[in-house]
Amino acid sequence: MFHAASRTGREHRTTTVPAASTLAVLHAVSKTFGSGDTAVRALAAFDLTIAAGELLVVLGPSGSGKTTLLNVLGGIEAPTCGAISIDGRALTGLDAKGLSALRRESLSFVYQFFNLVPTLTAYENIAVLAELTGGSVRSRVDAVLAEVGLADCANRFPAQLSGGQQQRVAIARALVNRPRLLLCDEPTGALDLDTGRSVLTLLQDLCHRDDRAVVLVTHNQAIAAIADRVLRMCSGHIVEDVHQTTPLAASEVSW
Ligand code: ADP
Ligand code: MG
Repeated sequence: MFHAASRTGREHRTTTVPAASTLAVLHAVSKTFGSGDTAVRALAAFDLTIAAGELLVVLGPSGSGKTTLLNVLGGIEAPTCGAISIDGRALTGLDAKGLSALRRESLSFVYQFFNLVPTLTAYENIAVLAELTGGSVRSRVDAVLAEVGLADCANRFPAQLSGGQQQRVAIARALVNRPRLLLCDEPTGALDLDTGRSVLTLLQDLCHRDDRAVVLVTHNQAIAAIADRVLRMCSGHIVEDVHQTTPLAASEVSW
C-alpha cells in the first residue's frame, strides 16, 4: 500500500492505492467489422491489463474504437482474434451460456442515455436485474439505491427523475450484481456539468471503495484529470497510457 496526496494548488483527492491485482487482461486483441474492401479495423493488436481498484479513463476521437473496446471487454462483441480474461476467467472461447454467466457475475455496463425502462419505477428497473442473480431482491435493490443516494426515489418513474438521478438509478442497477468491472460509455455525455460531476464523484468512489475497476470512456478531455490511468486511443490503437498518482477529486472537475 502507498499513500499519495497532492501538494499542488488545486484540491486533489487523497488516494490509498492497494497493491494492484489484475482484474482484466486483453492480449493481442483485434476486432474487424465487415470484410474485403469495406472492412473496418476497430481494434488492432490491443494489449491491456486493468488492475482492481483502477479508474481507467479512455479518451479518443469518435470512431477510434472506444465503444468496441468496452463491448469486447464486456463479452458483447467477440474479438476477431486475441484473448480476454476477466477476474481470472477466460472470456474468449466461452459459449453463449458461459458468457452470460460471466457477464452476470463479474461486470456491468453504464450507458450515456441511461437505458432505463420508462414504464418501470426506479426500484423495478433494478429488481429486473436483481432477479436474474437470485438472493433477496428487496434488500439488494434497497441497498444499491441507498448507495447511490436515491433511497427516497424508489417508487418514481424515470420521467419523474432528473437526468443525473436517472443515471444514478442506472448505476445502481449496474451495481446490483456486485460487479468487479464497471464499463461506462460516455456516462456524463447527456448531463450538464453539475450533475455530470456528481455522477463522476459516485463512479470514482465506487471504484476506490470496493476495489473494482471502472473503465470510463469519454471524448471529454477534462474528465481525464480524475483518472488513476488515462488511455488515449486513435484508429484502434493505444497511443498513450499514463498513470496518475494524484488524480483530481471528481467533485472538482470542470468543463
Ligand atoms: P468510438 O466509440 O471511439 O466512437 P467505435 O468503437 O464505435 O468508436 O467504432 C470504431 C470503428 O468501428 C468505427 O469506424 C465504426 O464505424 C466501426 N464500427 C463499430 N461498430 C461497428 C459495427 N457493428 N459494424 C461495422 N462497423 C462498426
Ligand atoms: Mg463510442
